[in-house]
Amino acid sequence: MRDIITLACTECKRRNYSTTKNKRTIPHKLELKKYCPFCRSHTLHRETK
Ligand SMILES: [Zn+2]
Repeated sequence: MRDIITLACTECKRRNYSTTKNKRTIPHKLELKKYCPFCRSHTLHRETK
């Protein structure tokens, strides 16, 4: 039930993080504030395939 997802920075579109999520508890697209080393600041990261 747990799927591996990739989190990409919405500013520079780079994929910085991998995590897992349970699609049963989180049906929508994940959006997390995370540190982007390329933007050198905290940006919104969105789930990608
Ligand atoms: Zn970035």
